[in-house]
Amino acid sequence: MKKPHYQVITAESAGFCFGVQKAVDAVCKEIARGEKIHTYGPIIHNERVVSDFEKKGVRVVETPEEIDGLTGGTLVIRSHGVSKERFEQIQSSRVRCIDATCPFVKRIHRIVEEESAKGAQIVIIGNAGHPEVEGIMGWSSTPAAVIGKAEEAESYRGDPERPVCVVSQTTFQVEKFNELIAILQKRRYNMSIVNTICNATRERQEEARRIAKIADVMIVIGGRTSSNSAKLYEICRKECPNTFFIQTVEDLALELTGEEKVIGITAGASTPKNIIEEVQNHVRDGKF
Ligand code: SF4
Repeated sequence: MKKPHYQVITAESAGFCFGVQKAVDAVCKEIARGEKIHTYGPIIHNERVVSDFEKKGVRVVETPEEIDGLTGGTLVIRSHGVSKERFEQIQSSRVRCIDATCPFVKRIHRIVEEESAKGAQIVIIGNAGHPEVEGIMGWSSTPAAVIGKAEEAESYRGDPERPVCVVSQTTFQVEKFNELIAILQKRRYNMSIVNTICNATRERQEEARRIAKIADVMIVIGGRTSSNSAKLYEICRKECPNTFFIQTVEDLALELTGEEKVIGITAGASTPKNIIEEVQNHVRDGKF
């Protein structure tokens, strides 16, 4: 086989983070026990993993009504976590609950619950509608604001008489977080800022940026609905205009000029190792 004219660099931080691994392991353990098993929402943002689990009998439950309808078995809460209301509903339902909420997300729930109980207004730097953000909102005893864009930070108006507590979605982009905080700080609220972006995310983003800076082509592997993968794509794209977002090796369609020296690969927190290895092997063998 002809040796490729480029070097392939795969990010060491690519793939499952600790929280996702823990949730996936919890499901695998239950399958092995032969339990009737459900997950509240797809366990991770990866269609292949979810469909493999489905084939093994894992059912995805999407609504509170469906939880009420369950008569037995196990329900796994995924790493994103859920709101306090949903958590209590699951605890008092007829299923055994396995809480695989990532401890880093749990910490945010605690901060939000405590600070809102003390009277603080909660601001979440994150993407509205993302399940992790929805869950965090649900631990605040007062309505929480979600800010994901500069315009939203500009138009945020809190009560100047009450403190503001700011937290972030664990997978938010570090640079963007700092930019939004700088906008909020102009308003001189009595503001406490807890940067709750998790280390796994920070390291993954920094490594992706470092590789993209020297890469001629960059490949980001992630699920269509994975917000941390979408952010990785954004980061890489800034450094390397030839950045491609793919879900699996089937999406790989590179057109090379022959001048490339480095092809970089990274992947979101919900991308399994075998998918990353498949892509890496195809790129190394020039099969695309
Ligand atoms: Fe936990 Fe961080 Fe993974 Fe989110 S990205 S599940 S906070 S380890």
